[in-house]
Amino acid sequence: MKKSLVLLAGGILFVMGCNKSVSNEEGLPEQDAVATERHCAADEVLKEQIKADPSLRQRMDAIEEFTKRVAANPEQFRLVNGIIEIPVVFNVLYRTTAQNVALTQLQSQIDVLNEDFAATNADYNLTSTYNSVKAGNIGVRFVLDQVKRRSTTKTSWSTNDAMKKSAQGIVPTSPTTKLNIWVCNMGGGILGYAQFPGGNSATDGVVLDDNATGRTGTAAAPFNKGRTATHEVGHWMNLRHIWGDATCGNDQVGDTPTHNTANYGCPAAGHKSTCSGTPVEMTMNYMDYTDDACMYMFSIGQKSRMLAVFATGGPRNSFAQP
Ligand SMILES: [Zn+2]
Repeated sequence: MKKSLVLLAGGILFVMGCNKSVSNEEGLPEQDAVATERHCAADEVLKEQIKADPSLRQRMDAIEEFTKRVAANPEQFRLVNGIIEIPVVFNVLYRTTAQNVALTQLQSQIDVLNEDFAATNADYNLTSTYNSVKAGNIGVRFVLDQVKRRSTTKTSWSTNDAMKKSAQGIVPTSPTTKLNIWVCNMGGGILGYAQFPGGNSATDGVVLDDNATGRTGTAAAPFNKGRTATHEVGHWMNLRHIWGDATCGNDQVGDTPTHNTANYGCPAAGHKSTCSGTPVEMTMNYMDYTDDACMYMFSIGQKSRMLAVFATGGPRNSFAQP
C-alpha cells in the first residue's frame, strides 16, 4: 500500500490530500489491490495537461464563458432537443483473464449510466435535504457501440494516458462522436479519471479501474454499482468535484452547497459543512467521493452545465448531431 502511494505521488505533481487507501486483506496481489475509498484523478490530470499546454486553460475559460451564456438563455437548449444518444466504445486492457471483463459487465455499466442519467436509478427516490434540486432526466442516453480488447504485460496503469496510446494501449475510436471508456487495472488506488471538454481529442474519454466498472464480474464493493463511470462521465460533460477541488471551493454550479472537501464512505444524513453559512452538504451527489451505494443524484444546475457542452457552439456539440 505504501509502495503504491509513493508511485502515485511520484507520477502526479499535484496530489491532493493523499486521501486514498487500498485494501489487500483478501490476499490479492499488490498490483490488483481493491480501493476502499474513492479517488478520482481528473483534476490532477487536468492540472498536468494545462502545465504541458497552457492554451488549454484559455480554451477552458472560453468554454466556461459559453456555459454561463447558455445557462442564462435556456432557449438555446432546444437546439439540442430531446435525447442525445452517445455511442460508447469500451477499450479493455488486460493482463489477467479476470481483467478481460465480460461483455455482460460492460453492458451493466451502460445500464447504470442510462439509469443514473435518466434518474430511473432505484435509489433516486431516497429523500434528502436536496429533493427540490434533483435534476431528473438529463436527456442523454448511452448505447454500447463496440468493445476493443488488448492483452498487455503491464501490471497496472497510471494517469499518464498510456492506455490511450498505440504503443501499449488502444487509441480512441472516433472521439469527437463516440465516448471512449478505457477499462484497465489502475494503480495507486485510483478508481478512474476523465478528460474535461476542451482537451486533446487523442486522449478524450474516461478511464475506469476494472474493479470499479459496472455492477457484475470484477466490480468490487464499495464501488460495485457502476457509479465511478457516472462520476467520470459527469467530468467529461464538464462537471467539477462538488467541493470545487479546494477547501470550500466553487464547483461553478449555483444550486449545490459549498463543501469543505470530499466526503467518503456513507456520511450520516444532515452532515454539515463548516464553510460560510454551514449548509448541509450534498453528499449524495455523484460528484462527491462517497461510496456507490450513497450517491444517487445530479442537481438541476449540474444538468444545465452538462447540457451546455452539447449546445450549438459547445465543445461536445458534435455528439448532438443527428
Ligand atoms: Zn472526479
